[in-house]
Amino acid sequence: MENFTKKAALQQHLAKLKADGAVITFVPTLGALHQGHLSLIQQAQQLGNVVVCSIFVNPTQFNDPKDLEKYPRPIRDDIKKLEQVNCDVLFNPDVTEMYASNEKWHLDIGELEGLLEGKFRPSHYQGVTQVVYKLFNIVKPDIALFGQKDYQQFLVIQKMVDTLKLPVELVMCPIVREPDGLAMSSRNIHLLPADRQHALILSKTLNKIKQGFNPDNIAQLKQQAEAAISNEPGVELAYFEIADGDTLHPANRNTKNIVALIAAKVGKTRLIDNVVLVSP
Ligand code: AMP
Repeated sequence: MENFTKKAALQQHLAKLKADGAVITFVPTLGALHQGHLSLIQQAQQLGNVVVCSIFVNPTQFNDPKDLEKYPRPIRDDIKKLEQVNCDVLFNPDVTEMYASNEKWHLDIGELEGLLEGKFRPSHYQGVTQVVYKLFNIVKPDIALFGQKDYQQFLVIQKMVDTLKLPVELVMCPIVREPDGLAMSSRNIHLLPADRQHALILSKTLNKIKQGFNPDNIAQLKQQAEAAISNEPGVELAYFEIADGDTLHPANRNTKNIVALIAAKVGKTRLIDNVVLVSP
């Protein structure tokens, strides 16, 4: 694997490959890689010739400085994992390579800005679009892959691509879970053993909703889910929504694309998860 920390060197490397006709696929990450990230790399390998993975803990998307500080950064292990799955290129810049001081950014992402995650993490999606825009400009991928795990993030990035007419195709990849159902996340290492058990209420509730899903009972199902999560010790629900998968507004019986989304704090760790209930 070729490992770059400087954008100019990476761009030079990729320009040569593109001149030879390579299709570049791209998987941006914050690192602390797990099987969920690696599944994105493997899916990227099916779609192109050269897979670029970026590892960059982007400060502008963290609302909480403590969260940023304690975000895991096991770069040596990450490199080993990427080599094991034959990733072609790693881009691992530091903050000064990505940002000049006092940079400004604002992108109109419409209502997605203030809904669900946007409501609980103000300015988060401005930081996400800021860094993904920069990364797309550096890598110039043909295809970029993102996880369904961050469902709203995918919608926000698609909105950016559409608004700015960026020449990249986005692909959403399924959520990879632990054998007991917990969605894999770099933040799971912060869960204490008891919290790790309590955290299962998220995937269990989503599963239950999926199994018994009836679009005529959305209000009742939502109430039951909220009660189940709130009754779990150590779990503080931020939101549970059965939403239109395109707009994230509450779904109704006529909605064509329905997703259930959860965010909750388990112990000190904030987790998110979701499941598609009806796809168009
Ligand atoms: P992150 O490093 O958390 O920003 O994640 C990088 C990419 O991996 C994002 O597109 C995430 O949606 C995706 N991802 C994170 N967790 C999972 C998972 N459990 N399954 C599939 N993709 C994931």
